[in-house]
Amino acid sequence: MKPLNQGIFVAKPATMPHLFEQFGQHHGPLAAWLLISSLIFLRYALPSSLAYNWLYKWKSSQWILHKIQQKFPSAAQIRHEISYSLLTSFIFGGLAIGVYFLRKMGVGALYFNIADYGWAYYFFSIAVMIVVHDTYFYWTHRLMHHPRLFRLFHLVHHRSNNPTPYAAFSFHPLESVVEFGIVPLTAIFLPMHASALFLFTIWSIFFNVLGHCGYELAPSGFTRHWLLRWFNTSTHHNLHHEKSGYNFGLYFNFWDRLMGTNHPHYDQIFEAIKTRSKTRSKTHSKVSSPLKKASIIGTLLLLSTCAFGQLDAEDLKNGNYGTPESRAAQLDKIMADNLDLNANQREKVKAINLKYARRTEAEVIQKDLSKLSRYSKIMSIQNDKDAELKQVLDKKQFDQYRKKRDEQMWKALKGG
Ligand SMILES: [Zn+2]
Ligand SMILES: [Zn+2]
Repeated sequence: MKPLNQGIFVAKPATMPHLFEQFGQHHGPLAAWLLISSLIFLRYALPSSLAYNWLYKWKSSQWILHKIQQKFPSAAQIRHEISYSLLTSFIFGGLAIGVYFLRKMGVGALYFNIADYGWAYYFFSIAVMIVVHDTYFYWTHRLMHHPRLFRLFHLVHHRSNNPTPYAAFSFHPLESVVEFGIVPLTAIFLPMHASALFLFTIWSIFFNVLGHCGYELAPSGFTRHWLLRWFNTSTHHNLHHEKSGYNFGLYFNFWDRLMGTNHPHYDQIFEAIKTRSKTRSKTHSKVSSPLKKASIIGTLLLLSTCAFGQLDAEDLKNGNYGTPESRAAQLDKIMADNLDLNANQREKVKAINLKYARRTEAEVIQKDLSKLSRYSKIMSIQNDKDAELKQVLDKKQFDQYRKKRDEQMWKALKGG
């Protein structure tokens, strides 16, 4: 084969960049851009769809109590996340080609022969890249939260208040350029082997998908462990999406601690999620068949929807649901007794309780739904009900209502 006389790649004709270059020469720059962008998109789409399907579909019943926010994202939100991630991949692809040409012009320290610096340096460079990126991310992220920049750069990413793994690349094009900035920035002063840079991007996408997955997978005590607490968790970034203004960090919980921007209740919120899941796994271990497991989850969710335990586990098992009217009346009484409602609120709460008791009856109790559709139906009814109650109750009352409802739910679960 006739050797290609293409500067830096002559010595190592088998490198990936060389293959891309050959591809570009044969098929044109547009095709090369499409190819690189598609590969970048795949590097995003494989881990995020794997995480999504695993947590939200295949194993959703197993993980549900590890879900950080109990509501589920809408299909529109997921479409938004995927379409912007696709756009980001094409922007990253274009910028990557730019970096490649800069390298060809002699700008940058990317190298292709491991022996040039040795293996120790190879791993050292990855570690440096991770630390530099963590710092770069924290400060550019905080900057993009400045009121003058937020809407233009960062609002697209924050459209997901309750992110899914697909939000990993969901950036406005301007934010994509900022996010990519770390690559040319370090390429200039940090010599890195091309494959070390690739390994770094794998590390990066792993944390990115984890931070947006919506479930807390780390064990209890993680945020208080002397070493582990320096790594960020899913809860950490999820809180950033839910209550913007805290938790700007990426991989490490270093800058947020140093700058005092960690969410003040980060540890408690993390542990609350873990306590929830522990309670359930104890119950779970007593139950053998998958059918029973499914019915416990169904019971649990039905209880949470109907709230305040007007349906206990035994009733559910025996099918003694009562009428929607009787359930709503019981609920009215419990809420009136516990929440210090005024007359006007009492009337409105009554109407809401009845409306949702009827909806639960029609859409859940009367129907023979599959586990998953029953579950998502209950979640969506509950979300709608909460939204209406929020209009009527003040914040303190609403929080108390939520607390009571959850307490009841866990009590029934422990007994079940
Ligand atoms: Zn942000
Ligand atoms: Zn995010």
